[in-house]
Amino acid sequence: MSEVRTRFAPSPTGYLHVGGLRTALFKYLFAKNQQGTFILRIDDTDRERFVEGSVEHIFESLRWLGLEWNEGPEAGGDYGPYEQSQRFDIYHEYTDKLAATHALYPCWCSAERLDQLRKEAQAEKRAFKYDRYCLKHPKDLAEPHVMRFFIPESPLSIGWDDAVRGHVEVKTTDLDDFIAIKSDGWPTYHFSSVVDDQTMKITHVIRGDEWVASTPKHLLLYQAFNWEPPVYAHVPTILGPDGKHKLSKRDDAKSAIDYKNLGYLPEAVINYLASLGFNDGTEQEIYSPEQLTKVFSLERISKSPAVFDERRLDWMNGYWIRQFKLDELFAKVQGFWPAEAVAANDDFKKQVLGLVQERLKYFAELPDLTRFFFTDLPLDMKLVSENKQLKKLKSEELKDLLERSKTTLESSDFSVDDLSARLNKLLEETGQKPAVLFSLIRIATTSAPASPGLADTLAVLGKQHSLTRIDSWLAAF
Ligand code: GLU
Repeated sequence: MSEVRTRFAPSPTGYLHVGGLRTALFKYLFAKNQQGTFILRIDDTDRERFVEGSVEHIFESLRWLGLEWNEGPEAGGDYGPYEQSQRFDIYHEYTDKLAATHALYPCWCSAERLDQLRKEAQAEKRAFKYDRYCLKHPKDLAEPHVMRFFIPESPLSIGWDDAVRGHVEVKTTDLDDFIAIKSDGWPTYHFSSVVDDQTMKITHVIRGDEWVASTPKHLLLYQAFNWEPPVYAHVPTILGPDGKHKLSKRDDAKSAIDYKNLGYLPEAVINYLASLGFNDGTEQEIYSPEQLTKVFSLERISKSPAVFDERRLDWMNGYWIRQFKLDELFAKVQGFWPAEAVAANDDFKKQVLGLVQERLKYFAELPDLTRFFFTDLPLDMKLVSENKQLKKLKSEELKDLLERSKTTLESSDFSVDDLSARLNKLLEETGQKPAVLFSLIRIATTSAPASPGLADTLAVLGKQHSLTRIDSWLAAF
C-alpha cells in the first residue's frame, strides 16, 4: 500500500473552533500513526467569505498544538502550491479534460430562471434538479456561463466503504447537475477538492460528517476522471453541552487561540479533542500526544456524536498542570501573574505557585487565586456576614476567636508544622469546627473566600503580613 497522506483543508473564513481542530488532530494522528504525511491546504477560492487574519490564525493554532504539517504553506512540498487561490491553471487543465468528455457542460441559465425552477420544485414537493435546458439550447461560449457536472444515468447508485460509518450507498438519481466551475472561472468546492486531493496524492480524506452529502458527487468526479478515489472517513458531529444540537459559537465554543490565551496546555487540549470521538477500547482517559499517535486508528473513531463538556477539558488541563515540576510550570505561567505580583521575587512566586498547582485548572485563574499573596485586599465584611458558619456568630465572639488566634500565631515560628500544630490545638481549646475557626483566620489573613491549606498559606504569607492583616480585621469588628 502506498504511503498514507492526509490533508487538513480549512477555508479561511473565520477562526478554527473545536470541531475543525478535532478533525485536524485526527488527520494528523492518523498520518503519524502510519508514518505518513500530514498536509495543510488552504481552501481559499471563495474570496467573498475570506476573513482577514484567518490563515495566520490557522497556522498559529496548529503550531501551538504541535500539529506541524509536513507539506503546505511555509513548509513547501512537491505538490504545491498549497493554497487553492494559486491553483487556477491546474483547475483549468482539468476542466478542459472533463469538458472534452462532456462530463462538464456549459450552462447560461439566469438566476431568475433557476429561481423559478426551484419554486416549481418546491410547490411540487420534490428536490430541485436542474432541467438541463442548456444542453439542448447552447449559446455562445463567449457569454458568461457556469460549467455543470453531468450526473450520469448509470450507475443508479454509488457507494463507498467509509472507515468510520461502514458502507454508505446513495442513489445518484437524486443528485443535481451541480456547478463545478463558476462564471468567474473558479471551481466550486467539489471540483477543486477532488482535483487537489488527486493531484496531491491524498490517500485518506478524513472530515466532519457534514460533508457526507458531498461525497457521492466527489466519487462521480473521480469516476469521470477515471481516478481511484481515496478512503473516506466521516467523523461524527460534536454536540453542544446539552447533547442535542450541534456545537456552535452560542455554546461558547472557543478557538485554539482562546484556549492558549486562557492558559490551557496544548497537551491537555490535544488529550481532550482526541477524546471527542476516539477511544482505544480501554478505560484510559489520559494520553500524551505521543501515546495518542501510537494508539490512534480510524476504526476506533466512534460512530455516534460526541458531547462537548468544558468541565472535562478543565479536569484534563488540571491533570496536565499537576504533572509539571514546579520550575517547569513556573516557566509556563509567565504572563499570567496578577499585576500586583510585578515586584515579587521569583522564589516567592514559586512558593505561591506550588500552593495553587493542585487546584489550578488553567493559568488565567492565577490572578484570582493568588492576588492576596501580593497585596492587601480590601476588607470585605460580606465575607463574614455571608459565610454560612460565621454569620451565626456574634461580633464579640468573632473578635474573641480572632484575638486568640492572633496570640497563638504570635508565638509561632511560621513553619508549616508549627502552624498546623497550633491551629489544631486552637480548635480543641475553642471547641470550634474548622469550618468556623479556619474560615475566620483565612478571611482575616487573605480577605479571600478560598485559599490553599491554611497552614501552608500562612507560612508563605509570613508572620508579619499575617498578623498585620489580622489586626486590621480586629479593628473592623
Ligand atoms: N474546505 C473544506 C472545509 O472548510 C474542506 C472540507 C473537506 O475536508 O473536504 O472544511
